[in-house]
Amino acid sequence: MKSNYTFTIIKPGAVSNEHIGPILAMINKAGFHITAMKLIRLSVRQAQVFYEVHKDRPFYGELVEFMTSGPVVVAILEKANAVEEYRKLIGATDPSKAEDGTIRKMFAESIQKNAVHGSDSDENAKQEMNFFFARTERFNRDGSCCVMEY
Ligand code: ATP
Ligand code: MG
Repeated sequence: MKSNYTFTIIKPGAVSNEHIGPILAMINKAGFHITAMKLIRLSVRQAQVFYEVHKDRPFYGELVEFMTSGPVVVAILEKANAVEEYRKLIGATDPSKAEDGTIRKMFAESIQKNAVHGSDSDENAKQEMNFFFARTERFNRDGSCCVMEY
């Protein structure tokens, strides 16, 4: 059974270029419900841990630098089969390969400054949500708070 939750980051470039609103509009229009959200600035350590899987890749240092260069929006999104559905909505990592109508096609500046992050598995989505959100910051569909676990 696939989880109904995924985790996203609107990355620094998209935030500084005033794309938060249009990106959230696309997210809602595609049928996702926002169950948690905040604007924060990642510390170097937080960015390193978040992207630890890429620590041996040549772009890791610059990726951490970029992700800490300004505030980001972190959010939890709810929809049936959320991880897969959201990866479809954001498009390919490299915006030149992203399909028309995807968030990255519309708002990415480069393969690094690619507008948004989306979890790539249910397991990682859960880890990422727990990394950024306390139970008191997570809401049910009816507006009540303190979801134990998604
Ligand atoms: P994300 O994890 O941010 O959702 P993704 O899963 O599509 O992106 P990953 O392979 O996990 O892609 O890469 C993580 C991030 O590292 C990318 O979103 C991008 O910002 C950066 N990145 C990936 N490949 C490159 C590259 N070749 N050069 C520079 N930056 C890169
Ligand atoms: Mg990834």
